[in-house]
Parts: sequence; structure tokens; C-alpha cells
Amino acid sequence: MAKIAMKFGGTSVADLDRIRHVAELVAGEVKAGNQVAVVVSAMAGETNKMVGWIKELDPLFPAVEYDTVVAAGEQVTAGLLAIALNAIGVKARSWLGWQIPMRTSAMHGSARIEGVDPTEMNKSLEDGYVAVVAGFQGIAPGDRVATLGRGGSDTSAVAVAAALKADRCDIYTDVDGVYTTDPRIVAKARRMEKISFEEMLEMASLGAKVLQTRSVEIAMQHRVPTRVLSTFDPKAGGTLLCDEEDIVEKKPVTGIAYSRDEAKITLLRIPDHPGIAAAIFGPLADAGINVDMIVQNVSEDGRKTDLTFTCGRSELAKALDVLEKAGEAIGYRELTSDANMAKISIIGIGMRAHPGVAQTMFTTLSDKGINIQVISTSEIKVSVLIAEEYVELAVRALHAAYELDKV
Ligand code: ADP
Ligand code: ASP
Ligand code: MG
Repeated sequence: MAKIAMKFGGTSVADLDRIRHVAELVAGEVKAGNQVAVVVSAMAGETNKMVGWIKELDPLFPAVEYDTVVAAGEQVTAGLLAIALNAIGVKARSWLGWQIPMRTSAMHGSARIEGVDPTEMNKSLEDGYVAVVAGFQGIAPGDRVATLGRGGSDTSAVAVAAALKADRCDIYTDVDGVYTTDPRIVAKARRMEKISFEEMLEMASLGAKVLQTRSVEIAMQHRVPTRVLSTFDPKAGGTLLCDEEDIVEKKPVTGIAYSRDEAKITLLRIPDHPGIAAAIFGPLADAGINVDMIVQNVSEDGRKTDLTFTCGRSELAKALDVLEKAGEAIGYRELTSDANMAKISIIGIGMRAHPGVAQTMFTTLSDKGINIQVISTSEIKVSVLIAEEYVELAVRALHAAYELDKV
């Protein structure tokens, strides 16, 4: 007998027929003799709908009440799936974050899981019940409901699997695994049998939303054997997250990720002296703005220079406001911004051993007439900032250039 965690995303529980289908998949694991904890997302579209209501009432909503509202979506599906399981003769009970309890930080809207107490859930599993866990939610200090950031049910699932010391965690979604790039924009994208934790971490944090970044971190730290599988074709291969050592052929580039919704800010003619970066990024950090790529030009005269950085599009207005208020302390001549930017990244552990990988990216984009505005690199990825309108063209061209189209 094994202990397993299963997770079903929004499209997998989008209506009652799909919830019945999920119940059958869970029942299959129970019949095979396994103890099962199943984590569910809200029905597709429900979280967005609630976020819309909140923003309409007050764009500057209190994050703690945002959490109270959006956690409701997962409460509904956890209850419905428990009902569907009982209806086909499988004993099941629902678990909300506070009932487990799943403790989180106080960062409402994007709380981090701090501890999952497995005691009560384990007792219930021992009594023969399936544990149906509401994903995405936990309980913050002060006993307030918290949520884990968009896509957070993946993280709930891996954290539950780790706490229960489950033999594996199966993430069921609307694709049958992790692909070389988003199969929705590149028809020739190919499923990977395996992907290393390191590459998956980069893919997720650079925009591939098939797994939430934090879920990959937890899987890696706690060595949770994690797979991505299709709800609609569960026998299809899937993708296993594994250690780097388990990947035999280390290609220079194994995946391409993109993220729309990026914005760029440039400060023109800032003084070129020590302390200026602190004067710019200090107030931005205090305002909770996540700055991503940064480039500073060499100053021509040794006195004035330009600096460009990127942040999320939704944070652009706030960032500009912060910089205008700090304008005197920074001393720029002009502040410009562009809200329609995107970031394209190539990822691969083989990059460490292959020089010249970035060059192929630059020439491929240049051949398509796409201008690169900012570049950033790390050991296993290269990211470039381009105009958002070229995302699909860029991703397809790079996919072909790195021979990821080839079987
Ligand atoms: P769920 O609701 O099940 O959590 P998501 O929509 O969050 O599902 O994630 C699955 C989606 O991730 C896929 O439909 C696909 O469009 C997208 N995606 C982006 N990059 C990749 C990739 N490299 N491999 C697979 N799917 C990807
Ligand atoms: N329902 C949440 C969201 O839409 C969490 C999840 O689906 O993972 O972001
Ligand atoms: Mg998701």
C-alpha cells in the first residue's frame, strides 16, 4: 500500500461532470489499495471572477479580506469532490486550510507555507477516508485565512505530500506533462519524460505556469517524487521531476519560457556616483515592488548616466509614483516607461558546459527583426526583454533554432 497525493487544477474540476471524472480517478487509486490525499483548485474562472469583484469594490483592497474571498473557490470544490466520492461509495472528507492546520506567513495574497501538521489527516487516512484538501489556502497568524499566490494549489499539494511523507505527488492538469515550451503557443512543443528540479524551478519562475515556483522548491527540498499528468488522458506519459544526475543527455537548451505583463522603466541622466542605486531601489523595495532585470549604462562624461529596470505591469503605476516622490533625492532628468514588454528565457543545465548558447538566441531574434532591450543571465538561463507583440514569433523561432522541434 502506498500513500499518494493527487492534485487537480481548475480546468480539471470546471464542472460537475469533470468532478465526477476526478472522483473516478481517485477511486481508482483507492481500489489499488492506496491512501489518498487529493488537493483541488477552484473551478476554472472562479478565482478570476472573485478577484474582479474585489478590484471593482476597491482597487486598494485589504489583502487579508482578498484572501477571505478568494479562498472560497477551493472550499466549494473540496466539498463537491468529497460529495462526489461518497456518492460512488468512497469514504472521503474535506479539509480546509485551518482544519489541517496548514500554517502560513502573514503575507496575505502570497503567503508562504510554514508548516503542515499531518496528525489529524493521518488519523483520517488510517480510518480509510480520502482527504480532500482545499488547495491555495492556509491559516496565517491571528487565525486569518491566507492564500498562497496564484497557482498556489500546486504548492499546497506538494506541501501536503511532504508532510504526509507520501510516496508520490501527482499533479493532474490540462496538459500531459511539462513541454519544451507552452504547447498552447507552439504546436511543435514536445513533452519531456523528465526535467531536473533546477530547470523546472527556472521554467516556473520565468513564466511557465504549469507548476507554481514554490511547489518545485518544496518538491526539491523534501525530495517529493512529483509528476505532471493529464486529467483527461491519465495514462499518457507525464513528466517526472528529478535530480540533475538522472538526466543523461544534458542539452544546452531544454526549455523556453515567456512572461507577458512585464513593464520597463528608464531613468535618464541620473548622477553617476555611489549611493544612487540605493536611492532608486530602496524606496521601491519599501513599497513592496519586485524589480527584476536591471541595466545601467556606462556614463559618457563620468557624471551622468541612464538606468533601466523591469517590474510587473500591474506594479508599474505604483513604481512610477514611488520614483516621482523620490525624484529630488535621485536627481534624474526624465522618467520614461513602457507597459507592453515581455520576457523570453531559454533554460538548460547543459548551458554550463556549452559556450555560445546565448549567441544563437541573439542572432535568431535579430533575424526576425526583434529588438532586445535588456538581457540578464544566470548559470542555466538567458532572459531577454522584448516588445510584447513579438512573444509568439520569438518563442517559435527560438524553439526551432535550438532544435527543440525535432523528435
Ligand atoms: P491548472 O489549472 O491545472 O493548475 P494551469 O493553467 O495553471 O493548470 O497550468 C497548465 C497550463 O500551463 C497549460 O495549459 C499550458 O498552457 C501552460 N504551460 C506553460 N508553459 C508550459 C510548459 N512548458 N509545459 C506545459 N504547460 C505549460
Ligand atoms: N484558484 C487559484 C488560482 O486560480 C489557485 C490555483 O488554481 O492553483 O490561482
Ligand atoms: Mg495552475
